Amino acid sequence: MTRQLIAGNWKMNGLRKDGTALARGLVEKLATDGGLDCDLLVCPPAHLLLAIGDILEGSGIALGAQDCHTEEAGAHTGDLSAAMLADAGCSHVIVGHSERRQNHGETDDLVKAKTTAALKAGLTPVVCVGETQAERDEGKTLEVIERQVRRSLPNKPGFVLAYEPVWAIGTGLTPTPADVAEVHTYLRELLIELFGPLEEGMRILYGGSVKPDNAGELLAVRNVNGALVGGASLKVEDFLGIALAGAKAGS
Ligand code: PEP
Repeated sequence: MTRQLIAGNWKMNGLRKDGTALARGLVEKLATDGGLDCDLLVCPPAHLLLAIGDILEGSGIALGAQDCHTEEAGAHTGDLSAAMLADAGCSHVIVGHSERRQNHGETDDLVKAKTTAALKAGLTPVVCVGETQAERDEGKTLEVIERQVRRSLPNKPGFVLAYEPVWAIGTGLTPTPADVAEVHTYLRELLIELFGPLEEGMRILYGGSVKPDNAGELLAVRNVNGALVGGASLKVEDFLGIALAGAKAGS
């Protein structure tokens, strides 16, 4: 069984005092509880990466960013390259989140260029795919995610895939475990077709309104290897409650 990865996407939340308190809270609670049998990742906003990296040092919690540029360096005002994120202590970077696809017009081709840049810099990209409510209503879920997977993933493994139905993000709505199972089985088959039968290192996370009270049933679904968590990653108890469910599901 694959060890689960529970990843927190803090999005554009938290001034320094908030982010550092959250990171300290996670480290302290984890130490008090004696650790968890799953991998943990937090992705704070970029201005906090260095400070949070210092706090996480030695805790076993990995540090990730929320986006990267396709180029290593150059005239790209306001952007950060994957190499810069690695230099800041990141091991992971989220790419192709639906908020970037929708609010910044990111295409599958751009997402692929970013995943490729992340791998080149030694980062593990967490590549997000997922259908909108309208696409689900039209029965196009599998078609949409297949297109996104074929076009957004890099040409070699070393990434994490996150299935995040857009309609489930921040809404409190979730697909049924049976719906999640259908999509994750489909994604697993697609990954095997594209990259061969490499089960390890090809984690497929579920994301979208994961909370401590629904994490158990979502993470127990076959081919769900962890969660990408937004809102609930901003509270120590909630994030570690989900992590506990991940540890149980992966054991
Ligand atoms: C996300 O944005 O990646 C996410 C899963 O958000 P939430 O958990 O708040 O739905």
